[in-house]
Amino acid sequence: MRGSCLCATVQYEVLKFSAPIDHCSCRMCRKAHAAAFNTAAGVLRQDFRWTAGAQAVKAYESSPGKLRHFCSNCGSQLLSERTGQPMMFLRVATLDEDPGLRPEFRIWKSHEVPWLAYGDLIATYEEAQP
Ligand SMILES: [Zn+2]
Ligand SMILES: [Zn+2]
Repeated sequence: MRGSCLCATVQYEVLKFSAPIDHCSCRMCRKAHAAAFNTAAGVLRQDFRWTAGAQAVKAYESSPGKLRHFCSNCGSQLLSERTGQPMMFLRVATLDEDPGLRPEFRIWKSHEVPWLAYGDLIATYEEAQP
């Protein structure tokens, strides 16, 4: 599977997921992604590689030892990791293709924003609101 940041400077390839896809509503993901939740999946280090723009990837240490990697040109969040751990957490929304798997659970519901309304709860348009 291939993925990239918004400006396409950074590109990567991932062979497979080794932990399920989940939605994380924790406060740090919300702020980092500027979104109600972050969709992530566990990837082993040996199954992931940057294929372009690795020099543009910067990291923010959001808590001790936890690095959030992002494109320094466009700001897309791409990956998080904890120093010394084999599993990294890919930002699934940066994939350029369907991974063929679906999210299995949500975490940090206790941090979820009160204004989240999605799916059948609100009007939906295929493109911009007419
Ligand atoms: Zn970028
Ligand atoms: Zn989170």
